[in-house]
Amino acid sequence: MKIDIFGMFVDEIALTIQPYGIPKYSAVQIAKWMYQHGIYDFNNMTNLSKKHRTILVEHCIINTVSTQAIEQSSDGKTSKYLLKFNDGMAVETVLMRQPYGNSVCVSTQVGCAMGCVFCASTLNGVIRNLTGGEILAQVLYINNLLKQEQTTVNTIVIMGSGEPLANYDNVLKFIRLCHEEYSLHLSYRSITLSTSGLVPEMDKLATEGLPVTLSISLHASNNELRSQLMPINSRYSLPEVMAAGDNYAKQTGRRVTYEYILIADFNDKVEHAQQLAILMRGRLANVNLIPVNPVIERGLLRPDSKRVQQFEQTLLKKGINVTVRREMGTDIRAACGQLRQKVLNKAPEVR
Ligand code: SF4
Repeated sequence: MKIDIFGMFVDEIALTIQPYGIPKYSAVQIAKWMYQHGIYDFNNMTNLSKKHRTILVEHCIINTVSTQAIEQSSDGKTSKYLLKFNDGMAVETVLMRQPYGNSVCVSTQVGCAMGCVFCASTLNGVIRNLTGGEILAQVLYINNLLKQEQTTVNTIVIMGSGEPLANYDNVLKFIRLCHEEYSLHLSYRSITLSTSGLVPEMDKLATEGLPVTLSISLHASNNELRSQLMPINSRYSLPEVMAAGDNYAKQTGRRVTYEYILIADFNDKVEHAQQLAILMRGRLANVNLIPVNPVIERGLLRPDSKRVQQFEQTLLKKGINVTVRREMGTDIRAACGQLRQKVLNKAPEVR
């Protein structure tokens, strides 16, 4: 069986090719071909000798992703891709062309076990974890597309399907790979990891020395309300999650983002904003309000813009750092899991 080298660090590639008499320094060359130039055929790695290329073709393989479906938003700023791996599993990856650069949202699991009621990714549970290479393949897929426009990926949000901290080792490998000089050479600060609040893993992440931005899905202004939205709240309550957020901010010096999905007539009232302001007071944190992307399967509705504004103003008046996420890609079901769900519903054989 051929060895898949995609997603390996240079050291791992060197160990893999050494038994075939290929020198260690070629590992960097191979990594650059894959991760920087988007070349996945050994025969096209022209700075390797012909002999070594032939050996590599014989013993190794580079597995990445193929396109299963694409949706473009009408304003052309958001593109959602359903990308398929070797075993036929598919996940969503989203390119968002923001004023500050190109941002890619990656998935970390096929499906998700967390059961958040507003999320389509969890409708069929979790199927499997993605490897570090499979997460990286999503970013490189977009990067290769952007190269045709003489541009590149600037920031990464780990916010697609899956709970990243439930796939801890692979996600950390992915983050480290993105940072490597022979790969994308992205700063850790340009990577945001979003969690539903796995407290032990949040504490562990705080000790890794990786200053990625931590984004916590709060979505409610009190414990009771949060339990209705997020089953994980019965394991790690809202106060415990916020304490882990404080610990992360203290250990890394990084401001934590609290995500708050606004759902009409559920958590969008002024009293909720006031409760939230009390929770946020004195914390090294900011709030990101996200009017919910309607999930047809769950009957969740988006508040009108007046209600959103009122919520934001209530927080601002209390001195809380708050932003409202720009609506991107609503017309292409850009919320997590919705394209995959659509394709699954149409073509169950995909799984
Ligand atoms: S919001 Fe995130 S953690 Fe919650 S079910 Fe969806 S993918 Fe999983």
